[in-house]
Amino acid sequence: MNVLVLNAGSSSLKYQLVNLETRSVLAKGICERVGSDEAFHKHGIDDNEVVIDAPMADHNEAMALVLEALTSGENKAIDSLDQIDAIGHRIVQGGKYFDRSVLIDDAVIDKIAELAELAPLHNGAALMGIEACRTYMADKPMVAVFDTSYFHTLQPKAYMYPIPYEYYEKYGIRKYGAHGTSHRYLADRAAEMLDEQIDDLKIITCHLGNGCSMSAIDHGLAVDTSMGLTPLDGLMMGTRSGAIDPAIVPFLIEHEGLTSQEVNDILNKKSGLLGISGISNDLRSVRTASEEGNDRAQLAYEMYSNSVKKYIGQYIAVMGGVDAIVLSAGVGENCDKMRRMIFAGLQPLGIVLDLEKNKGRGGERVISTDDSAVQILVIPTNEEYMIARDTFDLVQESLSADI
Ligand code: ADP
Repeated sequence: MNVLVLNAGSSSLKYQLVNLETRSVLAKGICERVGSDEAFHKHGIDDNEVVIDAPMADHNEAMALVLEALTSGENKAIDSLDQIDAIGHRIVQGGKYFDRSVLIDDAVIDKIAELAELAPLHNGAALMGIEACRTYMADKPMVAVFDTSYFHTLQPKAYMYPIPYEYYEKYGIRKYGAHGTSHRYLADRAAEMLDEQIDDLKIITCHLGNGCSMSAIDHGLAVDTSMGLTPLDGLMMGTRSGAIDPAIVPFLIEHEGLTSQEVNDILNKKSGLLGISGISNDLRSVRTASEEGNDRAQLAYEMYSNSVKKYIGQYIAVMGGVDAIVLSAGVGENCDKMRRMIFAGLQPLGIVLDLEKNKGRGGERVISTDDSAVQILVIPTNEEYMIARDTFDLVQESLSADI
């Protein structure tokens, strides 16, 4: 079965065509700056990538370009749309409604639209992606895979905020988490790599990319996660502040004469590594600057690693121990310096990084010492594969139900 996995952002449309039987990616790409004059489309198979400047006014037009690139030209992956069996959509916010992936119908679309209040940019974009698929591939089954559903196992003590209860009742203000598909993949894969049952393990998963989040997964169930009502909470990130004293918000509004939206923009787009270093949200540039003696770049490194370290401590306390810590995404997979700083001083907790293994690059690997009580693993995340697998499972299920 070939599944087209779609991840629609407010001005982007990312896609992968995945063959489930062979677990291979037939093609992937992204349309960026959709709706602007600088729109372009990157499409490729393996290293064979082409970048095409292409006007696209909206997600509908972007989808037409994607389908054309998949089925025609030098880098085509399939001969016709008949070879796409189903479509899996990444949806950021599933709120209280979705504790698992679901086949998309009108009622599901209505709920995703209702939840857009909690994730205006993301859910709105996903709806545009769904609409575009209905335009060009109305006959294909579609599945919604939610970033939040993995965290449905959180208990109220983990997801409630200590603010008046009425705001939870009135607006649904609570922790929903994000990156759930990634955390689910990392925990499952860690258990496979360790040749253990996930039900026997306490795992901490760290997704450290531009956006960063961590989760505590106790015997296969997520019990806590660092992102909150929105993906602004928790760890320090590339441009996002993560958790800060909430009183800073009214302070800035008052002293800088800013609107709440402007403060929101500062915390989402101008904070984190970028805000502290003043150089970049990209850790590679921050690293170069810190190695050249830039104090603020070094401070950014120290704050970022400290933020991860503190969550490791919290989650060990929440689960009463840990068997494995998994690192993933751009920073987690690639930055040996950051990993060294995160694990420095954790030896008394039985967490011992092997400095030689830590220097290695690429792919899945264990980077703790042979005698470390806690295994430290690097696992490249694969959200697209999880979305394709959920889509495959649900479509198969519905087909057998029809028989
Ligand atoms: P996204 O959340 O956008 O998917 P990624 O998972 O691709 O992000 O992570 C992007 C970040 O990974 C970059 O901002 C960069 O800081 C970091 N990164 C990638 N490669 C390296 C590297 N070799 N050393 C340090 N940081 C890296």
